Amino acid sequence: MSSEGTSGHDADHTDSAASDGFLQRYGRRPAGVWSAPGRVNLIGEHTDYNDGFVFPFGLDRRTAVALGDRHDQVVRVSSGFSPDEVSIHLDEITPDSVAGWSAYPLGVVWALAQFGADLAHVRGVDLHIASEVPVGAGLSSSAALESAVALALNEHWGLGLDRPTLAKVGQLAENRVVGAPTGILDQSASLLAQADAGVFLDCRSLDSDVIPLHFAEEGLTVLVVDTHVAHAHATGGYAARRASCEQGARALGVESLRDVHLDDLPRAEGVLDDETFRRVRHIVTENQRVLDTVRTLRERGAHAIGALLDASHASMRDDFEISVPELDLAVATAQAGGAVGARMTGGGFGGSAIALVDVALVPAITEAVLAAFAAAGHRTPTVFTVTPSQGARRDG
Ligand code: ADP
Ligand code: MG
Repeated sequence: MSSEGTSGHDADHTDSAASDGFLQRYGRRPAGVWSAPGRVNLIGEHTDYNDGFVFPFGLDRRTAVALGDRHDQVVRVSSGFSPDEVSIHLDEITPDSVAGWSAYPLGVVWALAQFGADLAHVRGVDLHIASEVPVGAGLSSSAALESAVALALNEHWGLGLDRPTLAKVGQLAENRVVGAPTGILDQSASLLAQADAGVFLDCRSLDSDVIPLHFAEEGLTVLVVDTHVAHAHATGGYAARRASCEQGARALGVESLRDVHLDDLPRAEGVLDDETFRRVRHIVTENQRVLDTVRTLRERGAHAIGALLDASHASMRDDFEISVPELDLAVATAQAGGAVGARMTGGGFGGSAIALVDVALVPAITEAVLAAFAAAGHRTPTVFTVTPSQGARRDG
């Protein structure tokens, strides 16, 4: 049975896994422990790199990094995720010199230097990582890792960068070192999240607003269905969608699709080929849905945002074409089971779907999703609830 019930994820556990792992790997206690959450994007998909709007929240599943000082200029990284331990001199960290999972934490070190950190005058560190964010599930284990490491090094080295800048550091690491052309959504969510709230982010100005969600107060929770369908953002569909958006913006003579509005769509339809037009229509309508979601939450509460979540999924399925049968089935089953609303979340081509549901319906919808996947011959998904939680912080 892969349903995990309602919660039981406690941050202290991840922190002690990081501390204990540090002790085991390096034979001494760490000087500090920092952590950052994975994220669920409530709405606003693929809008980030189009200078648009997103509205994610932080998860109650975190990645922790334990840090210890060194007397030389070597950085060592290890993780419960892998038996490998990578050791490299600060001078030698470049986008080409690191690979595999260590490209995320070491990419952050490199990216900090691009934002002004003087690595010639800091001492090396030992880092050990522990995480309870599922990897590759569309819940951004990558940004949780980048954000925890970025905050830890920023504080340990006294760099004085603010959180929006640390989000850019994580994004630069992911773009240039890992090689995934992802936007600023994930790192902003992980760094700026607050308990019981979503982060409404304007990806052009990087202005953000923390919006209370009041899910628990309204008797609601968010159910995540991790389909275990793998996605790879460095290659394939994600990059192709990004290229389509750039092409659409060029053809329409705008800097980015942020500058295209609902009433521009008829003109766009005349100018663009059918596929590019549908890609553009997703971005334009999705930006509007993010704005509508934030306004609806404020004016009418969380029960009223369901239709926007449902419409977002339909747009990703039909116009942006980033869904897969498993995600469609999870969404349709949750909707049929009485969810307030449901949609795939994250970059697409696999990963997770979310459903906003009355707490009392969690067991029935969970069972229905498991049964529907079994009947369709899909791999058994993992179904669990998440609680909007605090962003990156120092824990110890
Ligand atoms: P997602 O962000 O949706 O979970 P990504 O493919 O963007 O998926 O990032 C997953 C990758 O991030 C992993 O393959 C691994 O390289 C790295 N990663 C995530 N969590 C950890 C961890 N705890 N330790 C080491 N590497 C990790
Ligand atoms: Mg990721």
